[in-house]
Amino acid sequence: MEKPKLAIIIPCYNEELCVKTTVEKLFAVLDDLIKKDKIKPDSYLYLVDDGSTDKTWDIIAELHNQNPLVKGQKFIRNYGNQKALIAGLEGVRDLGCDCAVSIDADLQQDEHAIEKFIDEYMKGYDIVSGIRNDRKTDSLFKKTTAVLFYKLMNLLGVKIPVNHSDYRLISRRALSLMSQYHETSLFLRGFFHELGLKTAYVHFDVKQRMAGKSKFNFVKLLELSLSGITSFSIVPLRIITALGFLMALFGFVVGFEAVIEKIFYNNSPNGMTTTIILLCVFGGIQIFCSGIIGEYVGQVFREVKSRPRYIKETELK
Ligand code: UDP
Ligand code: MG
Repeated sequence: MEKPKLAIIIPCYNEELCVKTTVEKLFAVLDDLIKKDKIKPDSYLYLVDDGSTDKTWDIIAELHNQNPLVKGQKFIRNYGNQKALIAGLEGVRDLGCDCAVSIDADLQQDEHAIEKFIDEYMKGYDIVSGIRNDRKTDSLFKKTTAVLFYKLMNLLGVKIPVNHSDYRLISRRALSLMSQYHETSLFLRGFFHELGLKTAYVHFDVKQRMAGKSKFNFVKLLELSLSGITSFSIVPLRIITALGFLMALFGFVVGFEAVIEKIFYNNSPNGMTTTIILLCVFGGIQIFCSGIIGEYVGQVFREVKSRPRYIKETELK
């Protein structure tokens, strides 16, 4: 296989403290790989500014003026990290490359693993997925919720490995398949898994964030996981169906018993406690189930409008 032209995609949201150093470090990685004759010399960086309100874009534009191998685009507003990644993937697909790697702007993921990604790519893998060695840098809360999320996803039939991340390599072939998936809220981790292309896994170390604060909060993470579940699994809906069936069966038996009691024994039961408990439990289950169905209806609602995934303000090619 011929050595590839590599594009590195970096989503950036208010990363003015990181972006310059990150670009320098990634160029060091590119230069090293070019020297080792593993990638083509016209490999480049592609930064997606996810509607930053600080100086991020000015810095990117400045870096582009100094070196045209820094490319990128800016969104008109903040659309979130998944959209920024998708924009990056579509951007480099249109500009041209043989494979692309996406990495966070704070370089929490060890950038030296890119060499291993390329080695796997050369063995013929279409996707090389980065797996965190541990979650030392995450808070206990994030650690627990993340593990729970992956466990839940696996239970629901979306078998993405635990400690998976959006640090991965994608071949041009995988990139070109993306255009056939029109979902507005495409959940990339599920999508690349669902493609079923030959996938290799590379473990990497997680570092502390270089500078600045995490751009993810609880609401954003919850949104991401709910959209991940509702766009890749309908198992929750099936569970509701099964639950409804069992409840109906139970109701039928209990009702039957009540009628028998009434007719043959004329026992008017003093089951107030039972009534209250049943009412609360079944009421709760019903509202919870309506909520789950609501999530799916919401997903359909968002998708059926087929709004653009993002709108770009400018692009530096
Ligand atoms: N990010 C983004 N849009 C957002 C939030 C985050 O493009 O709305 C980018 C951010 O700039 C970074 C990456 O996504 O490059 C991961 O974000 P962060 O490091 O804040 O998340 P964490 O590592 O804490 O999960
Ligand atoms: Mg980070």
